[in-house]
Amino acid sequence: MRLNRALFNWLMGISLVCLLSSCVGDDKAQLYRTTRLMMGTFVEITVAGNGPKVKEAAQAVIAELARVEKLTSFHQSSALGAINDKAGVAPVSPGEELLKLVNTSLDTARKTSGAFDPTVGPLSRLWNFSGGDPTLPDRQDVQRATAKVGWKRVALDAETGTIFLPHEGMSLDLGAIAKGYALDRAKEVLTKYGVSSALINAGGDVLGMGLKQPGKPWRVGIQDPRNPRDIVAVVDLTDRVIVTSGDYERFFTKDGKRYHHILDPRTGYPARGVQSVTIVAPDGVTADALATAVFVLGPGQGLEIIESTPGVEGFFIDSSGEVRVSSGGTEIFETRGR
Ligand code: ADP
Ligand code: MG
Repeated sequence: MRLNRALFNWLMGISLVCLLSSCVGDDKAQLYRTTRLMMGTFVEITVAGNGPKVKEAAQAVIAELARVEKLTSFHQSSALGAINDKAGVAPVSPGEELLKLVNTSLDTARKTSGAFDPTVGPLSRLWNFSGGDPTLPDRQDVQRATAKVGWKRVALDAETGTIFLPHEGMSLDLGAIAKGYALDRAKEVLTKYGVSSALINAGGDVLGMGLKQPGKPWRVGIQDPRNPRDIVAVVDLTDRVIVTSGDYERFFTKDGKRYHHILDPRTGYPARGVQSVTIVAPDGVTADALATAVFVLGPGQGLEIIESTPGVEGFFIDSSGEVRVSSGGTEIFETRGR
């Protein structure tokens, strides 16, 4: 893989996140750790214990994440890419797994009034945040790309098992849910291998399984969006997933204005009003999809959705740096002085 400077710098930032987020607290347990560059980020796998079985389980997780990447990648050739290639031409049979994931994405779009929209592909391509060298596009190009976005137009036929994007230039981008899905798959793999204690950090999307050691939970830090080396809150992560969507992960500034990778599908521009939102949920898909969606919606509507979703809590830092926490979140998010 060719890494340009912007992507390299970004990945280095993420690697710091990994160190911070997985190393809060002491570290006396026997832990096996391995890190891979995949899914556009560093993935750090920590399994409690040692010996061949533990290594085997970690290798199986890596293989599973690679398989999910091959299914969902927006930039590399993938099953998802095959659907996009046939936009405006013909329906595609992507297989049961991808069909289900797209269906879940469309459900999330429905529940969030389109704030989460898996058809943001034309905008993702235009802004090019995940490609490496993003620049401010022309307003007309933004309008043109926005006109190609619209989850309601996706024709998913569950009976024939096909997906059709009816207009040329439409494209699906599952970047806002794929890492969460990968974490859910990884959990299944670990369970199959008899692992009950592990932490997987996929670029800040973190799965915590079991306890780090008897009586000691895995502890994960939430970064300060304006000083990402500082932690604003800490969470005990036992059998849950934590995901943060932030405006500091992939961004550039132009004329004093910050442009980042979470786009408002209604305007075609980066969503405003929030610096970061962290979601804790029982599973990765829910956490990842909701983090992106409520980032776009902001704390007002965002908190309403969080409150009405069972088992989910949220932690917002709004554009002025104020913290807003869902009602059950005060017990989960241990805030630190800022
Ligand atoms: P990250 O992947 O950096 O953890 P997110 O989960 O919030 O962050 O996903 C952001 C990615 O999702 C973007 O890079 C883009 O590919 C895609 N995306 C951006 N805006 C939206 C949106 N409103 N709805 C769905 N996907 C989006
Ligand atoms: Mg997301």
